[in-house]
Amino acid sequence: MRYYVAVDIGGTEAKLGIIDSRGKIHSKMSVAVSFDQYETPIIDTVIKGVEQLIEIQGVKRNYSGIAVSAAGQIDVTLGKVIGTNGHIKNYEGTNIKQRLEEKFGIPVTVINDANAMVLGECWKGSAKSFTHVLGVTIGTGVGGGVVIDGHLLQGHRGIAGEIGHFPINYDGTLCSCGNIGCFETVASMNALIERVKKLQVFPMPFNGRDIFNHLVVDEIANEVDQWIADMSAGLVGLIHIFNPQIVVIGGGVSYQKTHFLDPLRNKVLEKVMPCFGEQLVIEAATCGNDAGMLGALYHFISQMDSKGRDQ
Ligand SMILES: [Zn+2]
Repeated sequence: MRYYVAVDIGGTEAKLGIIDSRGKIHSKMSVAVSFDQYETPIIDTVIKGVEQLIEIQGVKRNYSGIAVSAAGQIDVTLGKVIGTNGHIKNYEGTNIKQRLEEKFGIPVTVINDANAMVLGECWKGSAKSFTHVLGVTIGTGVGGGVVIDGHLLQGHRGIAGEIGHFPINYDGTLCSCGNIGCFETVASMNALIERVKKLQVFPMPFNGRDIFNHLVVDEIANEVDQWIADMSAGLVGLIHIFNPQIVVIGGGVSYQKTHFLDPLRNKVLEKVMPCFGEQLVIEAATCGNDAGMLGALYHFISQMDSKGRDQ
C-alpha cells in the first residue's frame, strides 16, 4: 500500500490528509491560512502544516508524494499559481510544486481546486460510474471542471474549466475577474445574497443558510427561484457544449434537496434540447470537504504513477 500527503489550499484554510492509494483517508487536519491577512505566505503555512501532519502520525512511513489542490489558476506543468481573481496577498506566483519538492524531497503535483473536486467525485463520489462529467461548485464564487472520456479537460496551460467566468449577462454586474456579467455574478451564493440584501428583510450580515431557513417569506422564495432560473440558464449552455452524463453540484447549498437541487434539475431539464436531457443525471456532490484532497491524489496518481491507484 502506498501512502500520500494530500493538501487542499483554500482562501481561509488548508486541509491536509494522509491518504492511501485506495483513497482511504487515514488522518486529516486543517490549518488557517488567512490568520494574519496573508502576511505569512500561504505556502509557508502549508509547509508547516505538512510537517505537523507527518509528525503527529507517529508512524515512520515513506510517503510516495504530495498531491495538492489549490485555489486560483494553476499551471499544472509548473505546479505554480499563475492567476487569482481575489486579493490573496503573497500567493500569486507561488511555485507550490518547487517549494514542497525542495522541502520534502518527494514528487509533488498541483491542480486547481474546482478541478480537483470534480476528480474527487469521479473517483469516490456521485460521479463514480461516469466518464463524461460536468462539475459545478456553488460558493462565494462558482468553480468547475469538465471530464471528457474519463479525462479532465485541462486546456493549453491546465487552466480550462473556469466555468464561473463565462459572461452570461452582457449588461450585468462587475465580476471579480474584471469582466461584466460572468456566470459567477448570477449563480454564486454571493449573487443570491446580493439579491436578498435588496429586500432588506434581514439584519446584516446573513448567509446562504439564513436565506434557505426563511423560504416561508414569499419575497425570499421568489429571489431563490429567480437565482435558480439564472443558474439553470448557464448550466443548459454548458450541457449543450459538453454533453455530460452527469452534472455534479458541489458547495453547501447542494445539500438543499427540495428547495434547490430538485427545482434546479427540473428547470435544466425543461430547457435543454431533449436529446441532451435524456438520461442526464443532476446530483449533489457526496465527498464534501474531502473532494479536493481526493481529487488532488487522483490527479497525482494519474500523472505520476498509473499503477499506484488500487481502486
Ligand atoms: Zn468573471
